[in-house]
Amino acid sequence: MNQVNNTIKRLKELDATVTRLGHITALLEWDQETFMPGGAVEDRAAQIALMMGLHHEKIVDGEWESLFAQLGYDVDDSPKEMNPIDAAFLRESHKRWKKKIRVPRELVENLARETSLSQSAWVKARKDDDFSAFAPHLETVINLEREYARAVAPDGDAYDTLLDEYEPGATGSQIASVFDGLAAGLRELMDRILSGTAPEAGFLEKSYDISLQDVFGKKIQAFMGYDTNRGRLDLSAHPFTTTLGPDDVRVTTRYDENLVLSGLLSNIHEAGHGLYEQGMGENLRGTLLADGTSLGIHESQSRFWENTVGRSRVFWDFWYRDFQRLFPEHLSGVGTMSFYRAANRVQPSLIRVDADEVTYSFHIIIRFRLEQALISGDLKVAELPGAWRDAYQELLGISPRNDADGCMQDVHWSVGLFGYFPTYALGNLYAAQFTIAMEDEIGPLSTIIGEGRAETVLTWLRKNIHVHGRVFSPDDLCRHVTGKPLDPVHFLDYLNGKYAEVYGL
Ligand code: ZN
Repeated sequence: MNQVNNTIKRLKELDATVTRLGHITALLEWDQETFMPGGAVEDRAAQIALMMGLHHEKIVDGEWESLFAQLGYDVDDSPKEMNPIDAAFLRESHKRWKKKIRVPRELVENLARETSLSQSAWVKARKDDDFSAFAPHLETVINLEREYARAVAPDGDAYDTLLDEYEPGATGSQIASVFDGLAAGLRELMDRILSGTAPEAGFLEKSYDISLQDVFGKKIQAFMGYDTNRGRLDLSAHPFTTTLGPDDVRVTTRYDENLVLSGLLSNIHEAGHGLYEQGMGENLRGTLLADGTSLGIHESQSRFWENTVGRSRVFWDFWYRDFQRLFPEHLSGVGTMSFYRAANRVQPSLIRVDADEVTYSFHIIIRFRLEQALISGDLKVAELPGAWRDAYQELLGISPRNDADGCMQDVHWSVGLFGYFPTYALGNLYAAQFTIAMEDEIGPLSTIIGEGRAETVLTWLRKNIHVHGRVFSPDDLCRHVTGKPLDPVHFLDYLNGKYAEVYGL
């Protein structure tokens, strides 16, 4: 066993270098989105491409192969007596090595460069509402993504290969069937809601001072337990969370004077991601296991705090007086229940990031179906704007008048993130299922949050989800925490219960 231990130790040293290079790249990217002067964009793209190339080279370094061979057994079938952390480390590092060894460095750098150019083209095309200027870039990116998928799994389904980067183990056909059931359930609920009376919400669209929004947002992040000694909050065009090291997990947000809830919910959402990253087990430090096990699970953490907590009645029962004190003129005469109902108003809309909890998943289902067709080639890039409008009309009953608010609204495809979108909706489903397990153990959230005990919630999340990092696959984690595989019925039950109250259904 000594020899095996030495081999694993050396593998961990190699992995520590890969992990550090990843964090350094993340720092370059974080800076680009927050403080970098606009003129630096081209050189920064070259710096990031170089780092990605180095990162890739360290992942496929020949030493990995000889060390895996030295172990003397198939790492995907580790001996039973091996401790679970080492077994998971071998499983994950071997999987990564096996995959990346098949991808030429040239393709990695091509992808980094082309997606960087495509992103700037997207920014401009979106501003000018000119899809034809963006289309050739999108075409290039899709071709490179297909090439990547072919390199990794020559005989596999290309979309499944891409999806595996974000939601390991999931397949397009599994997700399609989960989404079909979800869409039917949501449609039924949405129709009932829209036949009722919408709550008055005009007070949410008044102008709210941004520095006061920031004060309140930080207060809520602190309430949740986000540690600013190991993280910080800055502004960026698109809110995100990034990990620059085990003790440096940063979040960003954006504020809009006229959309007070949007800024606050971004603060809560990103802090939810941040808590997951800050809660990784000490024994995973500096390894590839100190990471979210999938984007769907990551999103379950952010959405749990944003929606299950941040848009709940009990959260506002607890916080509304403080909030009202900051904005007395805006909210005079508005009671907690009116505020809560307004914060949960359901309205089919064109923009994903501003969607309510009921209609949100439709935006994802549409993107999932379209991106599958783009990757398979069933849908041509030139046909995308029309297909987008048809899909919105069919699922939400509205459709955009321009492509800026249509198929060009999100950054994802421009940077090659195909297979990423479904994880947002999976996050909603996981969050609902985890909440049931949590309440079984610690009691109803309505009591806990009502008493201001967010740390009780965080402790449960830490123990059951955060500390495990990638030790469990997403499916194993779900079974481990809830005793069952993912089932969309819990999310639908949650929404049906909540909206019965909001809309008096
Ligand atoms: Zn998120």
